[in-house]
Amino acid sequence: MNLVLVVNAGSSSLKYQLLNMDDESVIAKGNCDRIGVGGHLSHKVPSKSYVLEQDCDFPTHTEAFEKLVEVLTTGEGKVVGSMSEISAVGHRIVQGAEIFDRACMVTEEVIDQIDGLSELAPVHNHPHALALRACSKVLPKGTPQVVVFDTAFHQTMPPKAFLFGLPYEDYKEYHVRKYGFHGTSHRFVSAALAEAMGKDIKDLKIVSCHLGNGSSITAVDGGKSVDTSMGFTPLDGILMGTRCGSVDPSAVTFVMQKHGFDPHQMSEYMNKKSGFLGLSGVGSDNRDIQNACLEGNERAILTSDILQYQIKKYIGAYAAAMNGLDAVLFTGGIGENSWEVREAVCENMEYFGIKIDKAYNKTIRGKLTKISTPDSKIEVWVVPTNEELLIARDTLAVIAESKK
Ligand code: AMP
Repeated sequence: MNLVLVVNAGSSSLKYQLLNMDDESVIAKGNCDRIGVGGHLSHKVPSKSYVLEQDCDFPTHTEAFEKLVEVLTTGEGKVVGSMSEISAVGHRIVQGAEIFDRACMVTEEVIDQIDGLSELAPVHNHPHALALRACSKVLPKGTPQVVVFDTAFHQTMPPKAFLFGLPYEDYKEYHVRKYGFHGTSHRFVSAALAEAMGKDIKDLKIVSCHLGNGSSITAVDGGKSVDTSMGFTPLDGILMGTRCGSVDPSAVTFVMQKHGFDPHQMSEYMNKKSGFLGLSGVGSDNRDIQNACLEGNERAILTSDILQYQIKKYIGAYAAAMNGLDAVLFTGGIGENSWEVREAVCENMEYFGIKIDKAYNKTIRGKLTKISTPDSKIEVWVVPTNEELLIARDTLAVIAESKK
């Protein structure tokens, strides 16, 4: 078996998937949670329907990795004899900035560079670096490790798309620009869509709508990201579960003054208290918003309307940016599962060239399929994302390349 371990480390969590790349199946998956504040492990082995939930002691990422090695190699959840059976580890990294425009092998220098970008992604990059160091400590010496960046896919954006209207010196000096996120997902789903359409991705103009707890929309022209809705951080763009999305910057400074917030407090307010949660007062989960809409909750209906309106506007804007549009795709927890959001976004778009089969759309959850009608000028698809699989594929590709 050609086994690849995919790791997605946050400040207090370490999500993992072990994939058999011979058939791209998931051998085991789980999460080491509450790192630094206690510890909890959730480990699943799908083929055995085995589930382990256990409280642990995870003072740092190192103890979490040690536990991960233990459950993969011993006890009922065991899937390998030893960690040396794992051919490589692929790590998801949120911010690669302008240094990394593609996945690469992990070296001490690469870990330092990732850590050095922490100012641009304080919640993510430092924990990634901690996890990379912990992983190197715990895994057998010589296990190849690869880092795959959320921002890398968007490094093809031209300056007219990625620069803000701030003084140019802020870009040069402080690297303030749009980076874009969810790149691994947008790359995976746009390639999967081209394959499903039987077309070469080089010939397609796609708007990729990744809608989940965090959401972003990307214009993919000929397989390259030319613009995307998230910006300097994953706060920008459309309304999300608890994030506000784009706001007039003057409203930000005004609200800071009114509440007496410092920059950190304001950041928490926009990241954790806004979005669906702050607007609706119902919650951050789309299912709760949709249920509240059915009950006639006016603020939930307004929240839902705002989300759909913003997505619609991005589709229009990106069609203009690309001088054409062949397909729109929906992915992420909401995009894959919420027929209500898909229907509302595509409503009244006939003039634009979008017409979906409403009855069919209602039946679709998490399945790769076309939901537009045969006479729709622009095709509309639901495309399930699988970031872990693409990270595992990239990991093997980078290792193969390094051996050439
Ligand atoms: P993600 O961040 O991609 O896991 O997506 C999470 C979002 O997907 C949450 O807002 C969920 O409410 C939403 N979601 C998941 N399943 C469904 C469903 N069956 N119907 C509607 N929304 C869903």
